Amino acid sequence: MAYLIDSHTHLHDREFFTEAQATAMLANAHRLGVEQLICIGTNVTDSQAALRFAEANNGVFCSYGVHPEFAAQAAAPFTVTPSDKLVCIGEVGLDYHYPDYDKSSQWQLLEEMLQLAVELELPCSFHVREALPDFFSLVANFPKLKPSVLHSFSDSPESLALALDKGFYIGVNGLATFAHLDCYKNLTADFLDRALLETDAPFLTPVPKRGIINEPGYVKYVADYLAKKLGVSPDLVAEKTTHNVRQIFHLPDPGRSE
Ligand SMILES: [Zn+2]
Repeated sequence: MAYLIDSHTHLHDREFFTEAQATAMLANAHRLGVEQLICIGTNVTDSQAALRFAEANNGVFCSYGVHPEFAAQAAAPFTVTPSDKLVCIGEVGLDYHYPDYDKSSQWQLLEEMLQLAVELELPCSFHVREALPDFFSLVANFPKLKPSVLHSFSDSPESLALALDKGFYIGVNGLATFAHLDCYKNLTADFLDRALLETDAPFLTPVPKRGIINEPGYVKYVADYLAKKLGVSPDLVAEKTTHNVRQIFHLPDPGRSE
């Protein structure tokens, strides 16, 4: 059985998980076949916490990034500490969901983060909500950006087709298992060439674990969902999505000591 990877989680965030909880959840993840995970930062302090957690645990990697919700407070210059554990820039992007969003600060921040990704030759984990047209036009100014992921994708089927056409990878999580998203309705098995699995824990707990806090091991249920949806085996989903994550983020073989 191929192993799984949780490509977007917040297990390092002590606002959501105690140290003891995080340790227990890492062990549970291994029991459920999840060998590697990427802890995603949402601001400078949180990204530092993700790095500390990754450096302390085998199989854990991390990102550096400032989420668009913090755009107004974010202050350049951004200094990234180099580490073998740092595998991406994220989560970064645009979010026009809440009525008081500030477009210009979000754009400026995203440009700075894209610049950083290009300089460091790292892929991005993108958070884009109700802002895909603007996102696509902004990201087009960075042709050297490495193949990157649209995390927690929930836009229209047309937008999904466009995102795939533009070369993006798609992060699928528990949202797909309970929100009856249109974009995942008519998928075929070749979607696996561009799909990544994630939990976004502690959020978006997948069916059949709704009602409790999400954790990296539950990426298994997202794999099961996608397998059923596509009419393929969970093993094939694991094999393909793990291949994609390792390729984009250059993760080492989990059998090798890090
Ligand atoms: Zn997230």
